[in-house]
Amino acid sequence: MNRDSHLCLIVSKAYRKLAKEYHPDKNPNAGDKFKEISFAYEVLSNPEKRELYDRYGEQGLREGSGGGGGMDDIFSHIFGGGLFGFMGNQSRSRNGRRRGEDMMHPLKVSLEDLYNGKTTKLQLSKNVLCSACSGQGGKSGAVQKCSACRGRGVRIMIRQLAPGMVQQMQSVCADCNGEGEVINEKDRCKKCEGKKVIKEVKILEVHVDKGMKHGQRITFTGEADQAPGVEPGDIVLLLQEKEHEVFQRDGNDLHMTYKIGLVEALCGFQFTFKHLDGRQIVVKYPPGKVIEPGCVRVVRGEGMPQYRNPFEKGDLYIKFDVQFPENNWINPDKLSELEDLLPSRPEVPNIIGDTEEVELQEFDSTRGSGGGQRREAYNDSSDEESSSHHGPGVQCAHQ
Ligand SMILES: [Zn+2]
Ligand SMILES: [Zn+2]
Repeated sequence: MNRDSHLCLIVSKAYRKLAKEYHPDKNPNAGDKFKEISFAYEVLSNPEKRELYDRYGEQGLREGSGGGGGMDDIFSHIFGGGLFGFMGNQSRSRNGRRRGEDMMHPLKVSLEDLYNGKTTKLQLSKNVLCSACSGQGGKSGAVQKCSACRGRGVRIMIRQLAPGMVQQMQSVCADCNGEGEVINEKDRCKKCEGKKVIKEVKILEVHVDKGMKHGQRITFTGEADQAPGVEPGDIVLLLQEKEHEVFQRDGNDLHMTYKIGLVEALCGFQFTFKHLDGRQIVVKYPPGKVIEPGCVRVVRGEGMPQYRNPFEKGDLYIKFDVQFPENNWINPDKLSELEDLLPSRPEVPNIIGDTEEVELQEFDSTRGSGGGQRREAYNDSSDEESSSHHGPGVQCAHQ
């Protein structure tokens, strides 16, 4: 059961219980109390009255409705006094102080930074308690309870979902900005203008360790905004790995694609690439060993360092993209020389009976052939139709 429906149930149950208890038939001395309870319940389920209560509180409701009295008392009856505990969405620290919100910041890092580790400075602006007034906002005794929210800092909004079902929402009090208190103009602290906190530029030294991953968090405990009576939350940096031109990362492994020509694929090769730490890595593949197009070879221990165990590294996978020569790259007369060197052709079996010769044409698979395109267009329109009339595919079956 979710929180709202649970709350609605509590409200209706509480009302029924109280109504029973104070019904004039059963309890002749409690006539007024019964009226009050009914009135409170009515407020919860009447949008106009609810709005009055939301805006002006009990007083507004009394004036707007011409009586009622003791509404707060009745509300607390209905909500069993546990309303604020139930509504509270602020986490509390171990010592019972309210805990401030954590501040999340994305931190973009290159693959090089994650390979080598990096220390960087991050400048951010945050609220700290005003030193002039020690976070009081003014002279001692200048602070007064906010009358609009009765010091709670929040106002309760009650919304009806269905008859007898109400939803409650709390909103920050606009008069005191949720502080629950207000300060006289003349007693206000000059430095923070009564805000109790001032903005301060803070520089954090961030250590990106070798092998850290995309999405990993670096936490600075208690470094988030300060506020009076609140234990500051944490600043949390969320690592965002930037795309790399050469390497793709998969856990501790690295992947790269390397283009070679047909000569290299058949006759061996050697190539050099620059690794993430700047080393020039020479890759050798001996003559006589063949690289098939699209095949993958692995270099053990040349992947990413493991987090907190950086001397252990993942592997590097190299996928070979074999570039074939272009059309007419050689005089056809010379091909017989090449053919003598290459593995021999399979023998063509003798064919008995009629044959028909066809022509192989260029075909760009990304654009599709003429016939394929027409078929696609047809499928698209039939899909649209069939989804409204029949199930998908039905249309195709009978045409
Ligand atoms: Zn101050
Ligand atoms: Zn207030």
